[in-house]
Amino acid sequence: MSDSIERIKCLIIGSGPAGYAAGIYGARADLKPVIYTGMQMGGQLTTTTEVDNYPGYPNGTDGTAMMEDFKKQAERFGTEVRFGMVTKVEFSNEIGGIHKITIDESKVVEAQTVIISTGATAKYLGLESEQRLIGGGVSACATCDGFFYKNQDVVVIGAGDTAAEEATYLSNICKKVTILVRKDYMRASKAMQHRVNKTENIEVMFNTELDEVLGDQVVEGVRVFNNISNEKQVIDVTGVFIAIGHKPNTEIFKGLLDMDEVGYLITQGKTTKTKLPGVFAAGDVQDKEYRQAVTAAGTGCMAALDSERYLGSLE
Ligand code: NDP
Repeated sequence: MSDSIERIKCLIIGSGPAGYAAGIYGARADLKPVIYTGMQMGGQLTTTTEVDNYPGYPNGTDGTAMMEDFKKQAERFGTEVRFGMVTKVEFSNEIGGIHKITIDESKVVEAQTVIISTGATAKYLGLESEQRLIGGGVSACATCDGFFYKNQDVVVIGAGDTAAEEATYLSNICKKVTILVRKDYMRASKAMQHRVNKTENIEVMFNTELDEVLGDQVVEGVRVFNNISNEKQVIDVTGVFIAIGHKPNTEIFKGLLDMDEVGYLITQGKTTKTKLPGVFAAGDVQDKEYRQAVTAAGTGCMAALDSERYLGSLE
C-alpha cells in the first residue's frame, strides 16, 4: 500500500560513487535528483580502508570519508539524499513514460528518469558451515569486523585485490593471517601482491581450498584441502574472511531489463542507456570489467548527462 505519491524528474538508486556523481551532474543540470541510498549508505567504499588510486588525493584517503565528501558535493547543488530501500520498480516502455518506484514497500515515487547505481555485493562460497557461522566468525568485510580478531589467527579466502587488501589490513590487527588461494598464483595486482609478500605475518597457501569451517556457535578453525595432493589439514583460527568477488545487485530488475548471465545490467554501446527509455545504469551494477571508484563515478556522470539529454529530447 502506498502512503504517498511524488513526481520527480530524476531518481537515483544507490549511493556509491556512481550514484553521487550522477547526483552532482544531475543537480547542476537542474534535474533536482533524489537519491535513495539503499541499506549501505556510501556503498562498497565504506567497507574499505585506504583509497590510494582515486585521482585528486595525492596522499590517499579513507573510503568512508571520501563517500561523505561525494555526498556533501551532491547536496551542495541540491541533490536530495534520502535513506531508503527501493523494493519494487514498474518501468514504462514508452518514450516520455513515467516510472513508478516503490520505496520500503510503502512510498511510491514517480520519476521521468531513473539512474540505477545499486552496485554489487560480496559473494560467499555457499558451504553450509560458512553460512551458519556468518556473524560468528565468518565475514566478508575485514574493515567492518577485523577489530574483533585482535592478536588472533585468521584466514582470508580469495586471490584478487580484495583478498590482498583484506589480508594486509588484518595483518595490522591479527597475530597471523593465512590466505587460501585455490590456484598456484594470485590474481591481485603486482603492487598488492608485493605488499602481501613483504608482510611477515601473512602466509599464502596456494592450491588450497576451504573444506569446512569448524565450530558450532563460533569459528574454532578451518579444514582445508590441497587440490593437487588432496591432503587435508586443520588450521586453528577464530576468523574467516571471504574475499572472492562480488555479484551485482539486480534482483529487483530481473525480467525487466537485459542482464548478462551473472546479472550485470547491459547498457547500449558507450552510453548508460538500458533498453527502456529514461532508465539508465551506472557503476558496478553494469561493469564487471573495471569496477573502480573512478570508473563508477565516470559512468554516474554519463548517466546524468544521458538523463538530461533524454529529458531535453522530450521537450
Ligand atoms: P576478483 O573477481 O578480482 O577476484 C576474486 C578472487 O576470488 C579470484 O582470485 C578468484 O580465484 C577467487 N575465488 C572466486 N571464487 C572462489 C572460490 N569458490 N574459492 C576460492 N577462491 C575463489 O574480485 P576482487 O573483489 O578481488 O576485485 C574486484 C575488482 O575490484 C577488481 O577489478 C580489483 O582490481 C578491484 N579492487 C581494487 C582495489 C584497490 O585498487 N584498492 C581493492 C579491491 C578490489 P581465481 O583467481 O582462481 O579465479
